[in-house]
Formats: sequence, structure tokens, C-alpha cells
Amino acid sequence: MFVENSYDLPALLESQERFFFSQKTRSLDFRIAALQRLADGIEGRTDEILEALSSDLGKPGLEAYVSEVYFTLSELRYFLKYLPAWVKPRRAGNPFYFFPAKSEVRHEPFGTSLIVAPWNYPFQLSLSPLIASVAAGNCVMLKPSELAPATAALLEELIREAFEPGHVTVVNGGLEVGKGLLDLPFKHWLYTGSEKVGRLYAEAAAKHLAPMVLELGGKCPCVLDQNIDLDQAVERIASTKFFNAGQTCIAPDFILVPEALHDAFSEKLKVALEAIFVDPAAPDLARIVSPSHYKRLRELISDDSIKVGDDDESKLFLAPRILPRAGWDSPAMADEIFGPVLPVIAYRDIDAALTELQKLPSPLALYVFSREKSFQEKVASAIQSGAVCFNDAIKQATVLELPFGGVGASGMGRYRGRAGFEAFTYARAVTKRYFFKDFFAIKPPYKGQLERMRKLLK
Ligand code: NAD
Repeated sequence: MFVENSYDLPALLESQERFFFSQKTRSLDFRIAALQRLADGIEGRTDEILEALSSDLGKPGLEAYVSEVYFTLSELRYFLKYLPAWVKPRRAGNPFYFFPAKSEVRHEPFGTSLIVAPWNYPFQLSLSPLIASVAAGNCVMLKPSELAPATAALLEELIREAFEPGHVTVVNGGLEVGKGLLDLPFKHWLYTGSEKVGRLYAEAAAKHLAPMVLELGGKCPCVLDQNIDLDQAVERIASTKFFNAGQTCIAPDFILVPEALHDAFSEKLKVALEAIFVDPAAPDLARIVSPSHYKRLRELISDDSIKVGDDDESKLFLAPRILPRAGWDSPAMADEIFGPVLPVIAYRDIDAALTELQKLPSPLALYVFSREKSFQEKVASAIQSGAVCFNDAIKQATVLELPFGGVGASGMGRYRGRAGFEAFTYARAVTKRYFFKDFFAIKPPYKGQLERMRKLLK
């Protein structure tokens, strides 16, 4: 358990400011060495990380390895490879009247950066933004989620081993620590979590006039066309929706399926889930994070739901549910589901379905299953989203060359790979002139100069 508010947060921030102004983080070698130490730490403690994720969320080892450990390591390697090129200033051309001059864009760190993480991928969603911020040359204060305490404690150790004090610091705790952070003048803010709490962080960042990346959630629609490979669509939806027991911000939240395919889709999905979650003694399904989330999810489940396996409330294990013949006004359609519950809505007319979708807040991701490019693009252009993936789900977020983030209610700003480096730096305009005669100086008296200038600057 964490001892609430046992940190002197203003003093920690001051030590980070001092560290930043020592200019150590300006050195590319310093950043690379720090990131390499983090990579070594993760590689050396992989078993402990998997144990912590199992203790916090009952994450199956394979899911934890690919989505948390491997993904974080691959992002680290990506940064180590490309950072030397990214930090290089970009030359910029100059207008003729500036001659002679040199201009360039430099990618400068903001200084102190706050990263607040959620519980669902508590390792990866803490470290992925942290890697980008350190690579960009910032000092970082990281607050992991108190709902994944074993991972949070391990993160604190890993960070202490990899980074100098003042460079990167973990502050662990719940509400009190969170509230304490809101008062501090960080120079950059990145928050991942719910919309309600995200607003508090957005207000705090605005109070300090600091830039921020807001990574929120929402209901990610999954729209099926008539012309699809139904078996393969079902397979991909089953394996992505129920990954981490549906507690993924970009999981398909609900299915929109043509009326003629509704029954076949629901039946095939049931069969696919029975084949996946075949062993009731060791189900390959994570557990629900807390009793309150368990209760919330149970209340979304309609009487006619299709259940695969048995619930075990004492272990916060919720068996996968399909909610066939759901409607736009079903309880499960009111908010982001964030669990192993999947409403299936049948549609007769795609235009009417898209009109309904347009009434929902913009999601992080949109999924469209179709063989027809015209259908894919019709849905993609009608519905705004942070990402769109055709004929699969979730995996788009593992493409490090793609930026990750939301739009509207699902958030603002982007990170991951190069987008992360850009999010945590600002483009500083630098111009150098020399002590040469000014051929094109503008200086009074202006009399008689206007006509000459108008001809010259046409
Ligand atoms: P949450 O908002 O409850 O908590 C996130 C963080 O905020 C935690 O570290 C928590 O301690 C802190 N916090 C909570 N209340 C606070 C307060 N009053 N003051 C200060 N800090 C406070 O979110 P969660 O339940 O951990 O995450 C679930 C949500 O996050 C879902 O909506 C999901 O879609 C979204 N999410 C988004 C992404 C993304 O990358 N866009 C990724 C994962 C999850």
C-alpha cells in the first residue's frame, strides 16, 4: 500500500527544475545512456514485470509480454535507433532580404514534464510516454495508477535504478498525490485516463499555460459490411475485443452488423469465444480491475446475453458476454464499456446507422470490416476518430510509425515514435546573421522608399 501524500511534491519539482537547468539532458549521449539503462532494467526484470501484471489484473503472461514488455522494449529500441537523426536541427531557407543568414528549426525540450498513467496497461502506458519525454530531453515526474499497485511499485524501482534523482521520478499514490500534482507548474502535461479526470488535468495545464497531450477513451465502433470474410472478421474481433478482458481504450466497443448477418455473426462469435476460453480452470482472460468496475459491467448485461463460461465474483472474473440485438438506447450503449461485454446492433440502412454514429462523441479508433474500398472510405469519411483500421482491430496502435491519440472527446495531441518526440519538444526557430552590410535595410526616413519597395517586393 502507498502512504498517501508522503512526498514533498513542490520540492521534487524544484529538484527536477534544477536538474533540467544543469543542462545535462541536452546531451544526446546522456539521453541515450539513460534509455539504454531502462531497456536493460526491463530485460533483466521481465519475470517480475509479468508477475506484477498478473497480481494487479490477472493478465495472462502472453498478453502481458506482448502488449506491455515487448511493446515497451520495441519502442525503446526504436527511439535508440532514430533519436540521433530526430534531434538534428532542420535547415530552413531565408528570404532574399535577409542575406546573408542561416536559419534552422531546433527541437527543444520543455523542461519538467508530468505523465499520469491509467491502470489497464499500467506498465506500457507509463513508460511509452516517459521514453518519448526523456528522449526529447525533459525531466519527468511519473504518476502510475494506484489501481495497479504491484506494477506501480516495480516501476518506482526500475526508474530509480535507471535514472539519476531529479531526472526522472515516480510518485506513487491515489487521489491525494493526484490532487497535489494539479497545483504544480509543470512545463508539459500528458494524461491518460478517463474524461472526467482528464478535464481536471486539462484545467490545471491551462492554468499554467502549459501544452498537454490528453489520452482519453470512448466507444470505438466496429462496422461490418455485407461483403466480408465473416469467419476471419469474427476471429479478429474475438481475439482483440477480449484481450485484457476488454479493458483496452481502443477495443471494439460495439458491433454494427447488417441485419442479414446478425444471427450468423453472433453465433460464430459465440463458437469462437468457446474455443478461446476453453479451460475454465485457467481461463486466458484477465480479471476486472476492481469490484466497482465489476458491478458496473454486470449492470450493462441484458437478460438475453450470450455468456461464454462462468463468472467468479470472488476473483473479479467476468465471463465474456455477447449482447445480441442491442439497440442504440441499450444500457451498454450509454458509455464506454471497458470490459468483456460486446453489444451487437443490427442495421438495415448504412446511412441511417452512420447518422446514429455521428451523434456519439468521436472515438479513439474506428474499425471497418469490408472488402469494398467504397464502403471502407464511406464509413471512414463519415465518422471522425483518432485512428481507423480496416479489417482488423487494436493492432494499428502497435505501428510505431503511426501517431497515437484521439480527437474531440477521445483526447488531443499525439505520441508514439516520432510523434512522441515531437509532442515532448517544441520547434524553436533559430536565425543567425553576420556582421555584413545590410543590403535591404528598412529604416526611416521612409519618404520616397515606398514605391521602390513595392516594386522590389512584388
Ligand atoms: P482515471 O481517470 O480513473 O485515472 C487515471 C489517473 O488519474 C490515475 O493515475 C489516477 O490516480 C489519477 N486520478 C484519478 N482521479 C484523480 C483526481 N481526482 N485528481 C488527480 N488525479 C486523479 O482513469 P482509469 O480508470 O485509470 O483509465 C480508464 C480510462 O482511460 C478509460 O476511459 C480508457 O479508455 C482511458 N484510456 C485511454 C488510453 C489512451 O491511450 N487514450 C489508454 C488507456 C486508457
